[in-house]
Amino acid sequence: MLKRAAAIISEAEVIIITAGAGMGVDSGLPDFRGDHGFWSAYPAYSRLGLSFIDCANPQHFAADPSFGWGFYGHRTNLYRDTVPHDGFHIIGKWIERKSADYFVVTSNVDGQFQKAGYAGERILEVHGSIHRLQCQIPCSSAIWRNDETIRVDEATMRARPPLPRCPDCGEVSRPNILMFGDRSWLPDHARIQEQAFDRFLKNNADRRIAVIELGAGSAIPTIRATSERIGWNCEHATVIRINPREPEIKAPHISMPYGALEGLQNIDALLPPRSGRMRIEMVR
Ligand SMILES: [Zn+2]
Repeated sequence: MLKRAAAIISEAEVIIITAGAGMGVDSGLPDFRGDHGFWSAYPAYSRLGLSFIDCANPQHFAADPSFGWGFYGHRTNLYRDTVPHDGFHIIGKWIERKSADYFVVTSNVDGQFQKAGYAGERILEVHGSIHRLQCQIPCSSAIWRNDETIRVDEATMRARPPLPRCPDCGEVSRPNILMFGDRSWLPDHARIQEQAFDRFLKNNADRRIAVIELGAGSAIPTIRATSERIGWNCEHATVIRINPREPEIKAPHISMPYGALEGLQNIDALLPPRSGRMRIEMVR
């Protein structure tokens, strides 16, 4: 399987990376899998008896904004401080060496691909990004960059004022992330990214495509479904599914039971040595 994965990558003209929560684990990020995973990352919520689904709810920004911004402010700071693991650079090197066309589809809201140097216009963030804000009402369709400084008391997980606000109406703002039971998420930015991805797929459908899927679980199946759609619809596409717990995928696609970083390192060991750090375009 490893050898075949390496062969698929060395023959690919196009690389599509599809990533789920497991991609961030090797950078030290929590993946919130199950209550236990969530509570070990956030003991304060364990004491309050609140699950991830309870916390990731847009109503908090209206009803109790310092609670809402406590959770999302903490995560904003965490993702800003995180250094993307070497797996991001391993794929970047493959792309650079082959001058391959690429696109990233991620369900993660953490902005780690941009941080690792991938071009913003080649990324589809299906659930939005914590690094963008919108009005919590929302009073308009405006989406803007999250440049806010957010201070969070880690004992109570509450944000200290002043909280981020909408520049138009003065209401509290919120991350432009699709939350649970979310009726106020503005999808416009994700739609633009989606259109770019659709164009990319259309233009490259006949080429040799390697879909590298990393840490995408079946609980929220968007990413796995995207990989499979490309894998089954494009004639020369092969999916390499790297997942330590749920690697299953039907042949001729490739199933690799590894964590993201380990899987990428194992493939990389079979490819020619790297020539240096990734220098793919740094356009945001
Ligand atoms: Zn507003």
